[in-house]
Amino acid sequence: MQETINYERKVATMNIAEKLRNTSDTLFSFELLPPMKGDHIQAIYDTINPLMDFRPSYINVTYHREEVVYKKRSDGLLEQRSVRKRPGTVGIAAAIMHKYNIEVVPHLICGGFSKEETENALIDLHFIGVNNILVLRGDPDKSTRMFTPDPDGHENAIGLLNQVMDLNKGVYLDDDIVNNAETHFSVGVAGYPEKHPEAPNFDSDIRHLKSKVDAGAEYIVTQMFFDNRHFFSFVDKCRAAGITVPIVPGLKPVSIKNHLSVLPKTFGVELPEALTSEMEKCTDNAAVRQLGIEWTAEQARELKQAGVPSIHLYTMGKADNIREIVRKVF
Ligand code: FAD
Repeated sequence: MQETINYERKVATMNIAEKLRNTSDTLFSFELLPPMKGDHIQAIYDTINPLMDFRPSYINVTYHREEVVYKKRSDGLLEQRSVRKRPGTVGIAAAIMHKYNIEVVPHLICGGFSKEETENALIDLHFIGVNNILVLRGDPDKSTRMFTPDPDGHENAIGLLNQVMDLNKGVYLDDDIVNNAETHFSVGVAGYPEKHPEAPNFDSDIRHLKSKVDAGAEYIVTQMFFDNRHFFSFVDKCRAAGITVPIVPGLKPVSIKNHLSVLPKTFGVELPEALTSEMEKCTDNAAVRQLGIEWTAEQARELKQAGVPSIHLYTMGKADNIREIVRKVF
């Protein structure tokens, strides 16, 4: 007898925004970095496995633009090269979705991508059944600390968002296209409880955030913060500006001593004195890691009590501390 094979995708595609709008309990999600080029996908599975017992709602996978590196040539001169060190977001999204039967949210960035490359990535995501994406401008260049768009790319997240919304209406870059299938992307965007570091003031940052929501973003995920008062006041500002979509707090536990200077410098966030004085007392990074677990768990408990729809945890590729936090809170 011939075996019947079911080719249907195992995952029932869920719209993250709908989940966030309709949940009565606080959900949790976490974010992964693709492994460095050459590493095996197992590195990703090793991060995910310990967290699956706690039934995360979805998993985000970050995207990284190319970096400029300098190589010494045989004649002694330095040669500038662009290298993408963490490729693979689309492939990883597909692998996770099918291995764990869970919804995945790949990040899509402007930096380093032309509009056509973006369209092709969106087509790939549509083919593999990914319908949720987080749309971002992308980090500034590490060496100059300035964001430079691709000559044929987008300058701000809203340009990319508009491209996604066009595709959702079947509008492709190539207007001679024969079949213009509409995609069904549900889009989240980033928000900054302490203001985006490049924004001249809070009001303009919130105004630009509102434009992203008005253009079709269905929820907001925030930058990390270490004092919940920043988050609560940010939500108030958003609501006062007429932003009504769900706002998901993003939390990152401190884990090494030099986070004391690196996090404020890199992300423009403040570490409260109660946290920094305890970090300074830590004699090694293991102690900082434990402190980070306790601090983030406390933040998460308070946010959960305040009724946030979900809590988003930044793993930075390490699961042990995240597992501990989730175990304490959920
Ligand atoms: P935008 O919304 O474009 O805003 C950037 C700045 O420009 C802000 O100051 C804003 O006020 C201003 N602005 C926006 N629109 C306009 C306009 N029309 N005119 C003038 N000014 C404007 N980076 C990565 O490279 N890869 C990732 O995977 C990634 N994941 C992230 C996930 C989360 C949850 C967060 C919070 C950040 C993430 N980042 C990631 C970092 C992010 O790319 C940077 O913070 C980036 O500097 C800004 O991205 P954005 O999408 O908020 O940009």
